Amino acid sequence: MPIFYDDFKCSADKCTYTCCKDWDILVDKNTYQKYEELGLAVRHQEYFMEDNQGNKKMKLLNGNCPFLSEQGLCKLVIEYGENILCHTCETFPQQTFVRKGVLELGLSNACPEVLRYLNSIKPPLSFLEDEVDMNLDGTIISELVIRYRDSAIDILQLQEFPLWARLYILYMYSKRINVKNEVETNYYIEQYTTMEYLNETYQQLIKLDNPLDYKIPATFELFFGFSSKVSRDIGDIRYIVPILEYVSNVEMDVLVESWECFEEYFRYSYNYFENFCVNYVFVKGIQGENELKERIEILLLEISLIRFALFLQWHKNAHRLNEEDIMGISCYYARIIEHRSLQQIIKIIEEIGDGEWFQPGNLFTLIR
Ligand code: SF4
Repeated sequence: MPIFYDDFKCSADKCTYTCCKDWDILVDKNTYQKYEELGLAVRHQEYFMEDNQGNKKMKLLNGNCPFLSEQGLCKLVIEYGENILCHTCETFPQQTFVRKGVLELGLSNACPEVLRYLNSIKPPLSFLEDEVDMNLDGTIISELVIRYRDSAIDILQLQEFPLWARLYILYMYSKRINVKNEVETNYYIEQYTTMEYLNETYQQLIKLDNPLDYKIPATFELFFGFSSKVSRDIGDIRYIVPILEYVSNVEMDVLVESWECFEEYFRYSYNYFENFCVNYVFVKGIQGENELKERIEILLLEISLIRFALFLQWHKNAHRLNEEDIMGISCYYARIIEHRSLQQIIKIIEEIGDGEWFQPGNLFTLIR
């Protein structure tokens, strides 16, 4: 578990986002049965819906959970106590993963309190291991996958390279790995944990051209396409809509000219974003044996979108950003991207650019 796991405390009614807004809440079968027994399911039947797989979900009212009180508290908890909560509400932002004999505990980037911890910790973000006195069955994840995930974290924590380079090297690494081939995977783990090889790779990357008059319009296209597809989150109203309104009056050339100045400014946030990426890989890295490659592609897109939204916000605010902007915008994208299933998010990105955004050249353009 990450070092701050035990210190984490939900800020409840003081939360700047709250889990009870904007996203569909899946009500697990056992909890829905409890609602039926208590007569809640009938009394509030208009609050529930069924998706096309037969799962029960809370129906949002003006973007809020129907049980959210005006004071930002859960009416169900007030009336019935904490045991009434469905699995999602009871556990968020905790992410528990049981692999044979080991319990992994993580915290999602989609919670502003978690991000505040990530911002306060000087890298490298570390993880604790504890003896657990229980016989856990769970998914069998090979030691190889764990080593691969942990080596991915090591790459992200290489402070001798700028963050974009660490992310792109990680992407190149993940493209080579096929955990079904143990010999090959061991070979690449060895290669990508050798400083000499990593230095050479970095030297090659910095020689690659990435003209700003292509990068900025391309990133804008993704940012605009993505924002139009997912616009219903509270962060839209707070950040994205004002940014889009502002930017509609700014010439692309002006944005291109300001990018380098912003990049200098953005360097001060590297520590925070390093922790953000490390936390993402820790939580997502072993959820599916072969998923890490796709998860890393998504991470590159997520960081590109966050950085670009911050760039526009910085431009809008006369070249200034405050902590609230950085936390708020990164939380907004984490909520949209990390909370959706991998397949859902791949589908959205594919719809924007016919799968083109997943091409290595385009990912380089975005992240560089
Ligand atoms: S998003 Fe985090 S801090 Fe906010 S209500 Fe949910 S768990 Fe609490």
